Amino acid sequence: MRFLMWLILAVLVIFALRKKAQTFSSSAQPMPDNQAAAPQQTQASSTDSSAETMLCCQYCQLYIPASEAVLRGEKVFCCAAHADQV
Ligand SMILES: [Zn+2]
Repeated sequence: MRFLMWLILAVLVIFALRKKAQTFSSSAQPMPDNQAAAPQQTQASSTDSSAETMLCCQYCQLYIPASEAVLRGEKVFCCAAHADQV
């Protein structure tokens, strides 16, 4: 009789766990999808907006955005001072 009681208890526990898992997965599934998709989209958009070709200064090897680079012929510099040094 004790065995039967434990069996019923075990079945009830398994049933409760399954129900909990179902409700958890059903309620949690849309959440991680949104959370996972949102940062990826923002990261992608932020990298797209700030995606600028980085150029290496020939003098100090500093990487600067192409818009801020000082070009002397085909050589790239971070500032006019470095461009004049070479
Ligand atoms: Zn430099």
